Amino acid sequence: MKVSIIPENCIACGLCQTYSNVFDYHDNGIVKFTDSKQLSQTVEDDTDIIQAVKSCPTKALTLR
Ligand code: SF4
Repeated sequence: MKVSIIPENCIACGLCQTYSNVFDYHDNGIVKFTDSKQLSQTVEDDTDIIQAVKSCPTKALTLR
């Protein structure tokens, strides 16, 4: 599956990393990937990532 981040939608709530350490944050708290500077990443199916995407309050994370 492909997970994407939309940084302009992120409100820096810090929730997504509590579900999956695929997600990390810039110094200002805005989401980024832990090991990539890209805005999309292909990952193995992972219930923690799915939960993080579903839980994001501003839909700053998407799955395809
Ligand atoms: S859960 Fe959403 S709004 Fe909160 S830090 Fe993560 S991407 Fe940003």
